[in-house]
Amino acid sequence: MDFTVNEETQVMLDLMERFVQEEVIPLEPAFLTKNFSEIEPQIDRLRARVRQMGLWGPAQPKEYGGMGLPLTDFALVSEVLGRSPLGHYVFGCHAPDAGNIEILHDHGTPEQKERWLGPLVRGEIRSCFSMTEVELPGSNPVMMDTTAVLEDGQWVINGQKWYTTSADGAAFAIVMAVTDPEAPPHQRASMIIVPTDTPGFDLVRNISVMGHTGDGWASHAEILYHSCRVPEENLLGPRGAGFRIAQERLGPGRIHHTMRWLGICRRALDLLCKRAVTRPIAPGQVLADREIIQAWIAESAAEIAAARALTLQTAWKIEHLGWKEVREEISMIKFVVANVMQKVVDRALQVFGGLGMTDDTILAYFHRHERAARIYDGADEVHKLSLARRILKPYRARAAEIREGSHVFR
Ligand SMILES: Cc1cc2nc3c(=O)[nH]c(=O)nc-3n(C[C@H](O)[C@H](O)[C@H](O)COP(=O)(O)OP(=O)(O)OC[C@H]3O[C@@H](n4cnc5c(N)ncnc54)[C@H](O)[C@@H]3O)c2cc1C
Repeated sequence: MDFTVNEETQVMLDLMERFVQEEVIPLEPAFLTKNFSEIEPQIDRLRARVRQMGLWGPAQPKEYGGMGLPLTDFALVSEVLGRSPLGHYVFGCHAPDAGNIEILHDHGTPEQKERWLGPLVRGEIRSCFSMTEVELPGSNPVMMDTTAVLEDGQWVINGQKWYTTSADGAAFAIVMAVTDPEAPPHQRASMIIVPTDTPGFDLVRNISVMGHTGDGWASHAEILYHSCRVPEENLLGPRGAGFRIAQERLGPGRIHHTMRWLGICRRALDLLCKRAVTRPIAPGQVLADREIIQAWIAESAAEIAAARALTLQTAWKIEHLGWKEVREEISMIKFVVANVMQKVVDRALQVFGGLGMTDDTILAYFHRHERAARIYDGADEVHKLSLARRILKPYRARAAEIREGSHVFR
């Protein structure tokens, strides 16, 4: 495994880092206090500059106008951009479009690619991914009520979804629906492209999350599909392959998120240290002089370094060995990094005291919004269970032998 960064990549990372620091972070106070739509014109101006700099769409396919970076390079990019909640959006590699681009690229028909993929990569339109349902566990999505029935060459979709991130203003949704109820559980659902102006696609509301309803890209919607009809050709990938396709994009998607979270960790620790060396706590003393704060700094730095090494190793293995060989690590980094981030952000917020609770710094935003990291992309518990199942498998297979052997527990 080689994690050395070549000179060209380092130049690119430095450029991105400077742009985030000098252009994107200054937009945050407006982002924290205004509707997304109000600041969109400013964001669009930054996006235009990123395009001019040739840094648009770092992970997106080259033939559609992206940079086509390998996963290990994109991991480093994601960390740099993750320092601001707007970083990925400004550089055109934001969720949920990034994942949808991958699905369309790998499974779309030529017509689907022309109509949806090109404009999506170029940032001319947005999309959303509609799988989780209100009444059934997202942790076990094979339990799904939404159906799509083929009638006269059209899919007729009925169901109620929520947490469809960025649906507000999106041009289309990739909807997961049961098309084959009699098939084995993991072959029952398919992905279907639904333009959001289709009759029967009803955005009921943007859900208020942690006190904030949001709008546009920065929102999560509840959506009712009632007799929503789209052409048969809108099936994305093979019929019944919905869960398989969703699984395939888990690996790269996980690297995107975990490295973004590590970017948040770096930003939070940086802010913590700046505050600690400047905040007086007694005459002639600052917070950084207190051992408890020093311990938090050391623990945070060590936890970030360990989580980062595990994540980069996983990215390298996905790129060189394929995601199937790294299932355990893909599960591990999800809960390891999400929890490190939560701890580091919490420590930083604590060091900022009352100021940490305000929206005068980014920490309260991170605290509110990134709590969800332990829930989306598979709840931590689900990943822990599947990891433990894999670890235990060979032991269970040998349980009788272990029980009877004289060498037990040595
Ligand atoms: C900010 C955010 C953005 C999201 N964006 C999208 C999106 O764009 N599209 C989309 O389709 N969905 C999205 N989701 C939904 C997300 O995928 C689900 O919330 C997640 O899969 C968990 O499902 P659930 O909420 O139904 O919780 P449940 O499945 O009801 O689980 C609740 C809790 O039960 C525990 N649990 C679950 N399974 C087990 C188990 N086997 N053993 C022990 N404990 C268990 C876990 O602690 C879990 O947190 C988003 C969610 C959030 C918070």
